[in-house]
Amino acid sequence: MTNYEKGEQYFLHAYGRMLPVMDHGEGVYLYDTEGNKYLDFYSGIGVNSLGYNHPRYVAALKDQLETLTHVSNYFYTVPAVEAAQKVVEATHLDKVFFCNSGAEATEGALKLARKYYYLKTGKADSEIISFHHSFHGRTTGSVKLTGNPHYQEAFGPLIDGVKYATLNDLDSVKALVTDKTAAIIVEPVQGEGGVNPCTKEFMQGLRALCDQEDICLILDEVQCGMGRTGTIMTYFQFDILPDIVCLAKGIGCGVPVGAFVANKRYGEAMQPGDHGSTYGGNPFVTRAVSTVFDILKEEKIVENAAEVSKYLVAQFDELVKDFKCVESHRGIGLMQGLVLNVPAAKVDQALIKEGLIVVTAGPQVLRFLPPLIITKEHVDAAMTIIRKVLKEFEA
Ligand SMILES: *Cc1c(COP(=O)(O)O)cnc(C)c1O
Repeated sequence: MTNYEKGEQYFLHAYGRMLPVMDHGEGVYLYDTEGNKYLDFYSGIGVNSLGYNHPRYVAALKDQLETLTHVSNYFYTVPAVEAAQKVVEATHLDKVFFCNSGAEATEGALKLARKYYYLKTGKADSEIISFHHSFHGRTTGSVKLTGNPHYQEAFGPLIDGVKYATLNDLDSVKALVTDKTAAIIVEPVQGEGGVNPCTKEFMQGLRALCDQEDICLILDEVQCGMGRTGTIMTYFQFDILPDIVCLAKGIGCGVPVGAFVANKRYGEAMQPGDHGSTYGGNPFVTRAVSTVFDILKEEKIVENAAEVSKYLVAQFDELVKDFKCVESHRGIGLMQGLVLNVPAAKVDQALIKEGLIVVTAGPQVLRFLPPLIITKEHVDAAMTIIRKVLKEFEA
Protein backbone atom coordinates (compact mmCIF):
# COMPACT_ATOMS: atom_id res chain seq x y z
CA MET A 1 0.00 0.00 0.00
CA THR A 2 1.21 3.52 -0.68
CA ASN A 3 1.33 6.01 2.15
CA TYR A 4 -1.63 7.77 0.57
CA GLU A 5 -3.64 4.54 0.57
CA LYS A 6 -2.67 3.83 4.18
CA GLY A 7 -3.81 7.32 5.11
CA GLU A 8 -7.14 6.69 3.43
CA GLN A 9 -7.49 3.45 5.39
CA TYR A 10 -6.57 4.73 8.84
CA PHE A 11 -7.73 8.34 8.93
CA LEU A 12 -11.21 9.56 9.67
CA HIS A 13 -12.25 11.18 6.41
CA ALA A 14 -12.94 14.67 7.69
CA TYR A 15 -10.85 16.03 4.80
CA GLY A 16 -10.63 15.25 1.12
CA ARG A 17 -6.84 15.07 0.96
CA MET A 18 -4.76 15.73 -2.13
CA LEU A 19 -2.42 13.19 -3.65
CA PRO A 20 1.17 14.13 -2.90
CA VAL A 21 2.35 12.93 0.51
CA MET A 22 4.64 15.62 1.84
CA ASP A 23 8.10 14.82 3.06
CA HIS A 24 10.06 17.92 3.98
CA GLY A 25 10.37 21.64 3.45
CA GLU A 26 13.16 24.14 2.94
CA GLY A 27 12.68 27.90 2.77
CA VAL A 28 9.66 28.57 0.54
CA TYR A 29 9.70 25.07 -0.98
CA LEU A 30 7.93 21.85 -0.03
CA TYR A 31 9.04 18.41 -1.24
CA ASP A 32 6.84 15.32 -1.55
CA THR A 33 7.91 11.71 -0.98
CA GLU A 34 8.56 11.31 -4.72
CA GLY A 35 11.07 14.16 -4.63
CA ASN A 36 8.82 16.67 -6.44
CA LYS A 37 9.35 20.30 -5.46
CA TYR A 38 6.55 22.80 -4.81
CA LEU A 39 6.69 26.54 -4.47
CA ASP A 40 4.67 27.23 -1.33
CA PHE A 41 2.17 30.08 -1.61
CA TYR A 42 -0.10 28.81 1.16
CA SER A 43 2.19 28.33 4.20
CA GLY A 44 0.17 25.46 5.66
CA ILE A 45 -2.89 27.77 5.62
CA GLY A 46 -1.14 30.90 6.77
CA VAL A 47 0.97 29.26 9.46
CA ASN A 48 4.56 28.97 8.18
CA SER A 49 5.28 32.68 7.84
CA LEU A 50 9.02 32.08 8.16
CA GLY A 51 8.97 29.32 5.55
CA TYR A 52 10.35 25.89 6.41
CA ASN A 53 13.36 25.21 8.63
CA HIS A 54 14.26 28.78 9.43
CA PRO A 55 17.66 28.14 11.06
CA ARG A 56 17.13 30.38 14.06
CA TYR A 57 13.67 29.02 14.75
CA VAL A 58 14.91 25.42 14.50
CA ALA A 59 17.88 26.13 16.80
CA ALA A 60 15.66 27.75 19.43
CA LEU A 61 13.21 24.85 19.46
CA LYS A 62 15.97 22.24 19.59
CA ASP A 63 17.39 24.05 22.59
CA GLN A 64 13.97 24.23 24.24
CA LEU A 65 13.34 20.50 23.69
CA GLU A 66 16.45 19.77 25.69
CA THR A 67 15.55 22.26 28.42
CA LEU A 68 11.85 22.03 29.20
CA THR A 69 8.81 21.24 27.09
CA HIS A 70 5.94 21.15 29.55
CA VAL A 71 5.14 21.89 33.18
CA SER A 72 1.39 22.83 33.13
CA ASN A 73 -0.01 26.22 33.98
CA TYR A 74 0.57 25.82 37.71
CA PHE A 75 3.89 27.56 37.10
CA TYR A 76 5.25 30.36 34.96
CA THR A 77 8.19 29.55 32.71
CA VAL A 78 10.75 31.91 31.21
CA PRO A 79 9.74 31.36 27.54
CA ALA A 80 6.05 31.83 28.41
CA VAL A 81 6.71 35.07 30.27
CA GLU A 82 8.89 36.40 27.44
CA ALA A 83 6.28 35.47 24.84
CA ALA A 84 3.52 37.08 26.91
CA GLN A 85 5.40 40.37 27.08
CA LYS A 86 6.05 40.35 23.33
CA VAL A 87 2.41 39.55 22.50
CA VAL A 88 1.09 42.26 24.81
CA GLU A 89 3.51 44.86 23.47
CA ALA A 90 2.84 43.96 19.82
CA THR A 91 -0.95 44.10 20.19
CA HIS A 92 -1.03 47.29 22.35
CA LEU A 93 -3.31 45.35 24.72
CA ASP A 94 -2.74 44.20 28.31
CA LYS A 95 -3.36 40.57 29.20
CA VAL A 96 -2.78 37.35 27.25
CA PHE A 97 -4.08 33.79 27.58
CA PHE A 98 -2.22 31.13 25.55
CA CYS A 99 -4.15 28.20 24.09
CA ASN A 100 -3.48 25.62 21.39
CA SER A 101 -5.44 26.66 18.31
CA GLY A 102 -7.51 29.32 16.63
CA ALA A 103 -10.78 27.73 17.66
CA GLU A 104 -9.68 27.79 21.29
CA ALA A 105 -8.70 31.43 20.94
CA THR A 106 -12.16 32.43 19.71
CA GLU A 107 -13.83 30.21 22.35
CA GLY A 108 -11.74 31.86 25.04
CA ALA A 109 -12.53 35.34 23.77
CA LEU A 110 -16.22 34.46 23.74
CA LYS A 111 -16.05 33.22 27.33
CA LEU A 112 -14.22 36.35 28.43
CA ALA A 113 -16.80 38.64 26.81
CA ARG A 114 -19.59 36.63 28.42
CA LYS A 115 -17.91 36.80 31.84
CA TYR A 116 -17.68 40.59 31.59
CA TYR A 117 -21.36 40.74 30.67
CA TYR A 118 -22.19 38.43 33.58
CA LEU A 119 -20.30 40.63 36.05
CA LYS A 120 -22.12 43.66 34.64
CA THR A 121 -25.67 42.29 34.52
CA GLY A 122 -25.67 39.24 36.82
CA LYS A 123 -27.13 37.26 33.92
CA ALA A 124 -25.87 34.52 31.61
CA ASP A 125 -28.15 35.34 28.69
CA SER A 126 -25.79 37.29 26.45
CA GLU A 127 -25.96 37.57 22.67
CA ILE A 128 -23.08 37.69 20.20
CA ILE A 129 -23.05 39.26 16.75
CA SER A 130 -20.95 37.57 14.09
CA PHE A 131 -20.95 37.83 10.27
CA HIS A 132 -22.07 35.85 7.26
CA HIS A 133 -19.14 34.09 5.55
CA SER A 134 -17.00 34.35 8.68
CA PHE A 135 -14.80 31.56 10.02
CA HIS A 136 -13.88 31.19 13.69
CA GLY A 137 -13.20 27.47 14.15
CA ARG A 138 -14.84 24.06 14.42
CA THR A 139 -15.72 23.50 18.08
CA THR A 140 -19.40 23.70 18.99
CA GLY A 141 -18.95 27.27 20.22
CA SER A 142 -16.61 28.60 17.53
CA VAL A 143 -18.50 26.86 14.72
CA LYS A 144 -21.64 28.68 15.87
CA LEU A 145 -19.73 31.96 15.55
CA THR A 146 -18.80 30.81 12.04
CA GLY A 147 -21.32 32.24 9.58
CA ASN A 148 -21.54 29.17 7.36
CA PRO A 149 -24.66 26.99 7.87
CA HIS A 150 -23.03 24.07 6.06
CA TYR A 151 -20.46 23.67 8.87
CA GLN A 152 -23.21 23.74 11.50
CA GLU A 153 -26.30 21.90 10.39
CA ALA A 154 -25.37 18.31 11.36
CA PHE A 155 -23.96 19.21 14.76
CA GLY A 156 -26.73 20.90 16.71
CA PRO A 157 -27.72 21.94 19.22
CA LEU A 158 -24.91 24.51 19.23
CA ILE A 159 -24.57 27.50 21.57
CA ASP A 160 -27.45 29.98 21.76
CA GLY A 161 -27.59 33.68 21.14
CA VAL A 162 -25.49 34.16 17.98
CA LYS A 163 -26.78 36.43 15.20
CA TYR A 164 -25.18 37.20 11.84
CA ALA A 165 -24.75 40.58 10.22
CA THR A 166 -23.37 41.54 6.80
CA LEU A 167 -19.72 42.52 6.49
CA ASN A 168 -19.10 46.21 5.77
CA ASP A 169 -22.76 47.04 6.45
CA LEU A 170 -22.89 48.89 9.77
CA ASP A 171 -26.67 49.24 9.68
CA SER A 172 -27.01 45.46 9.49
CA VAL A 173 -25.02 45.27 12.74
CA LYS A 174 -26.95 48.03 14.49
CA ALA A 175 -30.22 46.28 13.61
CA LEU A 176 -29.09 43.25 15.66
CA VAL A 177 -27.89 45.10 18.78
CA THR A 178 -30.01 44.65 21.92
CA ASP A 179 -29.24 45.30 25.58
CA LYS A 180 -28.09 41.67 25.72
CA THR A 181 -25.37 42.08 23.11
CA ALA A 182 -22.09 41.18 24.81
CA ALA A 183 -19.74 41.04 21.84
CA ILE A 184 -19.21 41.57 18.14
CA ILE A 185 -16.66 39.21 16.58
CA VAL A 186 -15.17 39.95 13.17
CA GLU A 187 -12.15 39.05 11.04
CA PRO A 188 -10.49 42.23 9.71
CA VAL A 189 -9.98 40.21 6.53
CA GLN A 190 -12.28 37.19 6.22
CA GLY A 191 -10.11 34.24 5.21
CA GLU A 192 -12.11 31.06 4.58
CA GLY A 193 -15.12 33.10 3.53
CA GLY A 194 -13.44 34.39 0.38
CA VAL A 195 -10.67 36.87 1.40
CA ASN A 196 -13.01 39.77 2.16
CA PRO A 197 -11.37 42.79 3.81
CA CYS A 198 -13.31 45.10 6.13
CA THR A 199 -13.23 48.75 5.17
CA LYS A 200 -11.65 51.26 7.51
CA GLU A 201 -14.91 53.13 7.77
CA PHE A 202 -16.75 49.94 8.80
CA MET A 203 -14.14 49.01 11.42
CA GLN A 204 -14.18 52.47 12.92
CA GLY A 205 -17.98 52.34 12.91
CA LEU A 206 -17.90 49.05 14.82
CA ARG A 207 -15.46 50.50 17.35
CA ALA A 208 -17.70 53.53 17.94
CA LEU A 209 -20.79 51.34 18.24
CA CYS A 210 -19.09 49.06 20.77
CA ASP A 211 -17.90 52.04 22.82
CA GLN A 212 -21.34 53.59 22.83
CA GLU A 213 -23.20 50.39 23.81
CA ASP A 214 -20.51 48.84 26.08
CA ILE A 215 -20.08 45.87 23.73
CA CYS A 216 -16.85 43.88 23.48
CA LEU A 217 -15.16 44.20 20.08
CA ILE A 218 -13.38 40.90 19.34
CA LEU A 219 -11.12 40.88 16.30
CA ASP A 220 -10.23 37.44 14.99
CA GLU A 221 -6.75 37.89 13.54
CA VAL A 222 -5.99 34.17 13.60
CA GLN A 223 -5.31 34.27 9.85
CA CYS A 224 -4.69 37.94 9.03
CA GLY A 225 -2.56 38.81 12.07
CA MET A 226 1.17 38.47 12.84
CA GLY A 227 2.38 40.55 9.92
CA ARG A 228 0.52 38.84 7.10
CA THR A 229 -1.24 42.03 6.00
CA GLY A 230 1.89 44.20 6.22
CA THR A 231 1.48 45.40 9.81
CA ILE A 232 1.94 43.19 12.85
CA MET A 233 -1.83 43.46 13.57
CA THR A 234 -4.20 44.34 10.76
CA TYR A 235 -6.20 46.65 13.04
CA PHE A 236 -3.32 49.15 13.11
CA GLN A 237 -4.30 49.93 9.50
CA PHE A 238 -7.78 50.88 10.75
CA ASP A 239 -6.49 53.10 13.57
CA ILE A 240 -8.48 51.25 16.22
CA LEU A 241 -7.79 48.84 19.06
CA PRO A 242 -10.05 45.86 19.78
CA ASP A 243 -11.08 44.86 23.29
CA ILE A 244 -9.88 41.33 22.55
CA VAL A 245 -7.80 39.97 19.67
CA CYS A 246 -7.57 36.28 18.74
CA LEU A 247 -4.32 34.90 17.34
CA ALA A 248 -3.04 31.48 16.21
CA LYS A 249 -1.68 30.31 12.80
CA GLY A 250 1.32 32.66 12.26
CA ILE A 251 2.02 33.21 15.96
CA GLY A 252 3.82 29.87 16.31
CA CYS A 253 4.88 29.33 12.68
CA GLY A 254 4.26 25.61 12.91
CA VAL A 255 3.82 24.57 16.53
CA PRO A 256 0.23 24.41 17.83
CA VAL A 257 -0.33 27.61 19.75
CA GLY A 258 -2.98 30.30 19.87
CA ALA A 259 -3.75 33.24 22.12
CA PHE A 260 -6.42 35.70 23.01
CA VAL A 261 -5.28 39.07 24.24
CA ALA A 262 -7.51 41.52 26.11
CA ASN A 263 -7.34 45.10 27.20
CA LYS A 264 -7.29 45.87 30.92
CA ARG A 265 -11.05 46.27 31.26
CA TYR A 266 -11.86 42.84 29.83
CA GLY A 267 -8.69 41.20 31.12
CA GLU A 268 -9.75 41.87 34.68
CA ALA A 269 -13.04 40.00 34.24
CA MET A 270 -11.27 36.62 34.29
CA GLN A 271 -10.44 35.16 37.70
CA PRO A 272 -8.56 32.01 38.81
CA GLY A 273 -10.65 28.97 37.94
CA ASP A 274 -12.60 30.63 35.13
CA HIS A 275 -10.68 29.18 32.21
CA GLY A 276 -7.79 26.82 31.59
CA SER A 277 -5.75 24.62 29.30
CA THR A 278 -3.32 21.84 30.19
CA TYR A 279 -0.93 22.51 27.33
CA GLY A 280 -1.80 26.16 26.71
CA GLY A 281 1.38 28.22 26.33
CA ASN A 282 3.80 25.51 27.43
CA PRO A 283 7.50 26.44 27.26
CA PHE A 284 8.04 24.67 23.93
CA VAL A 285 5.35 26.54 22.01
CA THR A 286 5.96 29.86 23.72
CA ARG A 287 9.66 29.60 22.91
CA ALA A 288 8.46 29.40 19.31
CA VAL A 289 6.24 32.46 19.78
CA SER A 290 9.01 34.44 21.36
CA THR A 291 11.49 33.46 18.64
CA VAL A 292 8.96 34.31 15.91
CA PHE A 293 8.61 37.84 17.28
CA ASP A 294 12.41 38.25 17.40
CA ILE A 295 12.89 37.01 13.84
CA LEU A 296 10.04 39.15 12.46
CA LYS A 297 11.61 42.20 14.02
CA GLU A 298 15.31 41.64 13.37
CA GLU A 299 14.92 40.40 9.81
CA LYS A 300 12.32 43.08 8.98
CA ILE A 301 9.94 40.42 7.73
CA VAL A 302 6.71 42.38 8.16
CA GLU A 303 8.24 45.20 6.12
CA ASN A 304 9.16 42.63 3.47
CA ALA A 305 5.58 41.34 3.41
CA ALA A 306 4.27 44.87 2.85
CA GLU A 307 6.79 45.52 0.09
CA VAL A 308 6.47 42.23 -1.82
CA SER A 309 2.68 42.35 -1.55
CA LYS A 310 2.63 45.51 -3.68
CA TYR A 311 4.48 43.63 -6.39
CA LEU A 312 2.15 40.62 -6.09
CA VAL A 313 -0.93 42.85 -6.39
CA ALA A 314 0.53 44.54 -9.48
CA GLN A 315 0.93 41.10 -11.08
CA PHE A 316 -2.68 40.29 -10.19
CA ASP A 317 -3.78 43.47 -11.99
CA GLU A 318 -2.08 42.11 -15.09
CA LEU A 319 -3.83 38.74 -14.71
CA VAL A 320 -7.22 40.48 -14.56
CA LYS A 321 -6.35 42.32 -17.78
CA ASP A 322 -4.96 39.28 -19.59
CA PHE A 323 -7.36 36.48 -18.65
CA LYS A 324 -11.11 36.31 -19.14
CA CYS A 325 -11.39 33.66 -16.38
CA VAL A 326 -9.96 36.10 -13.80
CA GLU A 327 -12.59 38.57 -12.57
CA SER A 328 -10.79 40.54 -9.89
CA HIS A 329 -8.55 40.31 -6.85
CA ARG A 330 -8.91 41.48 -3.27
CA GLY A 331 -7.09 41.35 0.03
CA ILE A 332 -4.52 43.15 2.16
CA GLY A 333 -0.78 42.50 2.14
CA LEU A 334 0.16 38.86 1.63
CA MET A 335 -3.41 37.70 2.19
CA GLN A 336 -4.87 37.86 -1.29
CA GLY A 337 -7.74 36.31 -3.20
CA LEU A 338 -7.96 35.92 -6.95
CA VAL A 339 -11.62 35.82 -7.97
CA LEU A 340 -12.26 33.46 -10.89
CA ASN A 341 -15.30 32.62 -12.98
CA VAL A 342 -14.16 29.01 -13.35
CA PRO A 343 -14.08 26.46 -10.47
CA ALA A 344 -11.25 27.47 -8.14
CA ALA A 345 -10.75 23.88 -6.91
CA LYS A 346 -9.93 22.70 -10.43
CA VAL A 347 -7.47 25.52 -11.01
CA ASP A 348 -5.94 24.81 -7.61
CA GLN A 349 -5.36 21.16 -8.49
CA ALA A 350 -3.80 22.11 -11.81
CA LEU A 351 -1.48 24.59 -10.06
CA ILE A 352 -0.33 21.95 -7.59
CA LYS A 353 0.43 19.56 -10.46
CA GLU A 354 2.61 22.30 -11.93
CA GLY A 355 4.41 22.81 -8.64
CA LEU A 356 2.66 25.78 -7.01
CA ILE A 357 0.60 25.33 -3.86
CA VAL A 358 -2.24 27.73 -3.10
CA VAL A 359 -5.60 27.12 -1.39
CA THR A 360 -9.16 27.97 -2.28
CA ALA A 361 -11.59 30.11 -0.28
CA GLY A 362 -15.03 29.13 -1.49
CA PRO A 363 -15.93 27.95 -5.01
CA GLN A 364 -14.55 30.96 -6.91
CA VAL A 365 -11.57 32.26 -5.02
CA LEU A 366 -7.92 31.17 -5.08
CA ARG A 367 -6.37 32.21 -1.79
CA PHE A 368 -2.71 33.22 -1.57
CA LEU A 369 -1.02 33.05 1.83
CA PRO A 370 2.68 32.81 0.97
CA PRO A 371 5.39 32.79 3.62
CA LEU A 372 6.23 36.38 4.58
CA ILE A 373 9.85 35.80 3.51
CA ILE A 374 9.07 35.54 -0.22
CA THR A 375 10.87 37.75 -2.73
CA LYS A 376 9.80 39.28 -6.05
CA GLU A 377 11.62 36.40 -7.79
CA HIS A 378 9.32 33.92 -6.06
CA VAL A 379 6.33 35.97 -7.21
CA ASP A 380 7.67 35.87 -10.78
CA ALA A 381 8.09 32.09 -10.56
CA ALA A 382 4.54 31.72 -9.26
CA MET A 383 3.17 33.93 -12.04
CA THR A 384 4.81 31.82 -14.74
CA ILE A 385 2.99 28.76 -13.39
CA ILE A 386 -0.30 30.63 -12.86
CA ARG A 387 -0.27 31.99 -16.43
CA LYS A 388 0.47 28.58 -17.88
CA VAL A 389 -2.41 26.99 -15.92
CA LEU A 390 -4.95 29.78 -16.49
CA LYS A 391 -4.46 29.43 -20.24
CA GLU A 392 -5.98 25.95 -19.99
CA PHE A 393 -9.09 27.46 -18.41
CA GLU A 394 -9.73 30.16 -21.01
CA ALA A 395 -12.96 29.24 -22.78
C1 LIG B 1 -8.05 29.04 10.98
C2 LIG B 1 -8.93 30.00 11.65
C3 LIG B 1 -9.53 29.72 12.89
C4 LIG B 1 -9.45 28.37 13.53
O1 LIG B 1 -8.14 28.00 13.84
P1 LIG B 1 -7.81 26.47 14.19
O2 LIG B 1 -6.39 26.54 14.65
O3 LIG B 1 -8.01 25.67 12.95
O4 LIG B 1 -8.75 26.05 15.27
C5 LIG B 1 -10.24 30.72 13.50
N1 LIG B 1 -10.39 31.93 12.93
C6 LIG B 1 -9.83 32.24 11.75
C7 LIG B 1 -10.00 33.61 11.19
C8 LIG B 1 -9.10 31.28 11.06
O5 LIG B 1 -8.56 31.57 9.86
